Amino acid sequence: MCIFCKIISGEIPSAKVYEDDFCVAFMDIGPVNKGHVLVVPKKHAETFVDLSEEEAGELFKRVNRIAKAVKKALDADGLNIINNVGAASGQEVFHVHVHIIPRFENDGMKFGWRKLQYVGDEIKEYAETIKSAIEG
Ligand code: 5GP
Ligand code: ZN
Repeated sequence: MCIFCKIISGEIPSAKVYEDDFCVAFMDIGPVNKGHVLVVPKKHAETFVDLSEEEAGELFKRVNRIAKAVKKALDADGLNIINNVGAASGQEVFHVHVHIIPRFENDGMKFGWRKLQYVGDEIKEYAETIKSAIEG
């Protein structure tokens, strides 16, 4: 059983903030800022792209509700809402979860995002490749 399944079953303790039939939300044990919450579907799936469109929709309904609560409760200036898919993206726990991270002006946290440049028509080619892979 994975570590989040153990938290869901109660085998491992967690500081829960929300629970319903579909998901639980609990405090991240290693927060980017204090108040960092994880929203986790109860049914085990490794990554977000393993969810159906319906499950993803249900998950983000809860993310929306809990994000509003985190922002209000902590009087946060902003939030980062993040989901990592796969080890290459930084995913460490292979049970789907969405991070809700409260952000404050001058909190000292910087995500080190770079900005590459497309050459020529590359941007259109990437758009076409992705467009043709969209299902439904
Ligand atoms: P990932 O990198 O997979 O997107 O994020 C995994 C997150 O789970 C990390 O932010 C980490 O601090 C958190 N985490 C890992 N193990 C535990 C645990 O046993 N309990 C709680 N509450 N959080 C955990
Ligand atoms: Zn699991």
